[in-house]
Amino acid sequence: MKTKRPAPRPRKRPAKAPIPETHSEAIAASRNVQSPALAQGSDVVVAEQDGVDSRDGAPSFASLGLAPDIQRAVAAAGYRAPTPIQRDAIPIVMQGRDVMGLAQTGTGKTAAFTLPIIHRLMGGPKRLRCLILTPTRELCQQVDESFRKYGQFSDIEVAPIYGGVAYEPQEKALERGVDVIVASPGRFIDHMEKRNASLDSLEILVLDEADRMLDMGFAPQINRIVSGVPPYRQTLLFSATMPPEVEALARKYLRRPVVVQVGRRSSAASTVRHAVYPVPRGRKNDLLIELLRKPEMDSVLVFTRTKSGADHVVRDLHAAGIEATAMHADKSQVQRSLAIEKFKSGEIRVLVATDIAQRGLDISGISHVINFDVPAQAEDYVHRIGRTGRAASSGDAFTFMSPDEIAMVRTIERVLGQPIERISIPGFDFGTVAAEP
Ligand code: AMP
Repeated sequence: MKTKRPAPRPRKRPAKAPIPETHSEAIAASRNVQSPALAQGSDVVVAEQDGVDSRDGAPSFASLGLAPDIQRAVAAAGYRAPTPIQRDAIPIVMQGRDVMGLAQTGTGKTAAFTLPIIHRLMGGPKRLRCLILTPTRELCQQVDESFRKYGQFSDIEVAPIYGGVAYEPQEKALERGVDVIVASPGRFIDHMEKRNASLDSLEILVLDEADRMLDMGFAPQINRIVSGVPPYRQTLLFSATMPPEVEALARKYLRRPVVVQVGRRSSAASTVRHAVYPVPRGRKNDLLIELLRKPEMDSVLVFTRTKSGADHVVRDLHAAGIEATAMHADKSQVQRSLAIEKFKSGEIRVLVATDIAQRGLDISGISHVINFDVPAQAEDYVHRIGRTGRAASSGDAFTFMSPDEIAMVRTIERVLGQPIERISIPGFDFGTVAAEP
């Protein structure tokens, strides 16, 4: 049992106080921060790049001051060094400051808040001290898994609370008492209404993937929940993008936050190799089958725009003798969990999903992401390909572009700030074959 030392509240610094020296390189880059309104009165830290920091003299988990039991858990997870967002956010969270983290999945952002929260809660009183709100069940499960993994040598108890499953086991867990709840907003409100959970002793509130939560229409639920949380708390907000709605949310709920930004906003994970395959719509399935025949395509996540599109692709793949499973909103929670499990274990190598799976899905070792349809929003492209090129690995992201999708690809290229390589396969590229009737 560790005795918990309360994290010291940092001394108030004027808005223009120097940023700590370890972040000196970030100072120059901080001019590029794209939310000047929020940055006003905040400290701004721009983590260097996506991926694991392997520079000489880069800090280790030990040098970040994390408790030895957490360091053991991190070592057991196989992590050698903190990623840039972990390097920058962990000490700030440990100081008790509010943080606005601009980072997409794949950058190691979950551990960036989970590790210092465990550090802070270890050995403390048993009561609900931390609430993490996430947009989807899948993300809820993943954050819960992270707490269990990184807290395996500590006494922290966590309960995941999400919809689509029975209330009773969740009620039992809440009754027993937990330190941390990881919840999707809708189901958590149900429990609040039934008085199953009290927020009176809450010390830390995390809004994970805030942009996604707002996109999904959770603003009223978030407001309702936060209004029940004591005002003297630490608030951490993570978001892949920074639209005005998220900025407003941050201004409402965060106090003098330190803004930690990984790389450039909207920049795709740097380990991902992108390519666009020009192909007529009617030949996309044949191209997919052709690509899936390559031995290096061993764990492939295919995105379609619609549920029926996903089912269609799975049917065609089956007909071609390729094992594949669909995952979308019409599937039950059990079917979705089973699909992810089989995909993770390698039992099936192709998972065909709609955007429901696009964010927060932590499946390490994905070799390829294929956008069967070009995503309608450029930001969605970034999130989708965030599934591959996870923290320390590399991956390929291919996009099938039919003639009517050329403009959408151009928009994505503008947002990325770089052109995406075109790969022309003779017989498929609409530049080399006759146009569709
Ligand atoms: P996240 O951005 O939180 O979704 O994490 C992306 C992936 O990176 C997860 O599979 C983590 O297990 C992995 N990860 C997190 N931190 C590190 C690290 N320091 N070194 C290597 N992998 C990591």
